[in-house]
Amino acid sequence: MSRRGLDAIVVGAGLVGAAAALGLARIGLRVAIVEAAQPRAWRDDAPSDLRVFAISPASSDLLAELGVWPAVVAARAAPYRRMHVWDAAAPDASVTFRSQDVGAPHLGHIVEQSLIQTSLWHAILAEPGIARHCPARVVGIEHTQRGIDVELQDGSRLSATILVGADGSASPLRERLGIVTRGRDYGAQGVVGFIRTARPHEDTAWQRFQPSGPLAVLPFTEARSSIVWTLPDVEAQRVLALDDTDFARELERAFGSRLGTMTPISPRAGFPLRLKLAERYAADRAVLVGDAAHGVHPLAGQGVNLGFQDVTELLQLVRTAHAAGQDIGAPSVLSRYARRRKSDTTMAGYAFDGIERLFGTDAVLPTLLRGPALGLVDKLPPLKRFFVRHASGR
Ligand SMILES: Cc1cc2nc3c(=O)[nH]c(=O)nc-3n(C[C@H](O)[C@H](O)[C@H](O)COP(=O)(O)OP(=O)(O)OC[C@H]3O[C@@H](n4cnc5c(N)ncnc54)[C@H](O)[C@@H]3O)c2cc1C
Repeated sequence: MSRRGLDAIVVGAGLVGAAAALGLARIGLRVAIVEAAQPRAWRDDAPSDLRVFAISPASSDLLAELGVWPAVVAARAAPYRRMHVWDAAAPDASVTFRSQDVGAPHLGHIVEQSLIQTSLWHAILAEPGIARHCPARVVGIEHTQRGIDVELQDGSRLSATILVGADGSASPLRERLGIVTRGRDYGAQGVVGFIRTARPHEDTAWQRFQPSGPLAVLPFTEARSSIVWTLPDVEAQRVLALDDTDFARELERAFGSRLGTMTPISPRAGFPLRLKLAERYAADRAVLVGDAAHGVHPLAGQGVNLGFQDVTELLQLVRTAHAAGQDIGAPSVLSRYARRRKSDTTMAGYAFDGIERLFGTDAVLPTLLRGPALGLVDKLPPLKRFFVRHASGR
């Protein structure tokens, strides 16, 4: 089986790859998407996905443009209107971001990964401009005079003008393109799960910093909250193995008493955390998007939002080149994408890394710095507005 004459091949149908494929097809391009795993169907009555994301307004704008956001909101999405951050070592120093500070109805939405994933996949199924290769894997790539060829495991060969690598943090495609990464392993995991709290979550994303890592309690539907608790590997393994009563006791101790008693209501899972930045985001006729290009610490909940911003930028540049009748794979197009996104995501990656280092210690100097730093942000409205705008991605 062979299909020639595509404009773009997207490898990976995670949130970022699926959004890229849809967006490119909507520009009028012929697109193929190659995904290793068979996407699962969404069911309203299925247990909630443990992996939830804080989706920024810029990301929901992109999903709205792709026509999938209304279905996501209708199914299960919780807006959050406040974000409250404080330091366990200096409980009086805190910062609160409010949606009204920037005249917005909310700061974003908490949504399950699988809900966005299946909404995007349904849209792909209905999109005639996208050929689906799933389950399938790329086993080889070859540059040709006019574009790039991709060989799949089943022996089929695809030819396109550009290749979009969206195959996640381990990205075999990035390796095939000879792009190396740098960063560090945090030696930590994000422990996730759902809880109920004795007091209402007040549509607030709560985050408490402690030397072992931040603990986020995110407001979700049906008066539930989702936790992302960063802990060193050994500690994470230990709390994952606790029974519900002991887990609740440790969680309450780590979070403090603001929301009252905490009751676990789901299984728990741990995700390893790494800072991983690709040295280049573009190669000859190829670009990287999402976690294939950048994996960052989840403390600011920006991972997938950065990936959606990659997609927005790529679509803008490709749309302009296509409308002008230019080669969408020209170095001028792809290197502009790479330059813009690399500077933005590198800054974000190292900013989150810096925050992790500043708060992830009980050494005297950083501890002395943290309280005044939070207090300063809280007392300066322009600085707060800057942070909220930056986090919203707009
Ligand atoms: C604990 C935790 C909490 C987080 N919380 C947030 C949050 O609140 N907000 C936020 O924005 N982000 C958050 N993130 C980050 C977020 O999970 C990632 O940034 C996001 O999922 C990356 O999406 P992606 O589409 O780039 O990659 P992935 O979701 O990894 O998708 C990659 C896809 O490529 C496919 N694939 C892999 N190899 C191949 C191959 N060889 N051939 C074909 N297909 C292949 C895979 O099957 C997969 O479908 C969190 C992460 C963690 C660990």
